[in-house]
Amino acid sequence: MRPHRGSSHTRPASQSAGSGAQARLDAIAAEIYDHVPCGFAICEEATHLVPGEGSASATVVIVGEAPGASEDKQGRPFVGRAGRLLDELLEAAGLERETVFITNVLKARPPGNRDPRADEVAHHLPWLEAQLDVIAPRLLVPLGRHALARFAPDAKISAEHGRVLERDGRTLFPMFHPAAALHGQELRETLLADARALREAL
Ligand code: URA
Repeated sequence: MRPHRGSSHTRPASQSAGSGAQARLDAIAAEIYDHVPCGFAICEEATHLVPGEGSASATVVIVGEAPGASEDKQGRPFVGRAGRLLDELLEAAGLERETVFITNVLKARPPGNRDPRADEVAHHLPWLEAQLDVIAPRLLVPLGRHALARFAPDAKISAEHGRVLERDGRTLFPMFHPAAALHGQELRETLLADARALREAL
């Protein structure tokens, strides 16, 4: 059921209270769930807002673009087809999904999976920054050009994917977005090679 305007969005069972850094992450998630009404259709019309999930002590944070239809339905990041490919990439990188933190630039699904609008990004970005402040990961993996643009506006994903890029005191390891590789074997091979390179960079 769609929450109506002004109601709190429901929380997945995994978002329970914890202590220390985990409690701070949970507080950010609670703020995301409770911030409507805010005047932004993507937030107010979401089935679920999707703060992200994973360990507060993660050394790696994966940042996608925005929830898609499956994520909007379940309230969890990367649970659809792109998510299944992300799971394969994590395995190739030697990472367990539970040990990383997975989130998105936008915490709500743009209708029809259109590109995020600048005002929507500005509305949601403080939550991503707050999550990164709490986790302070060793490595940040932006997936695709929209996520990369948040951390390195001048960088091109086609040039920087699969290698370490230092920006503003952060260590980035940009990768193509898994959704882009769902229909092309070549890009899939590139992503898998980049995931193996990520393993080396850890
Ligand atoms: N694509 C994204 O960028 N994020 C998700 O959570 C799912 C698909």
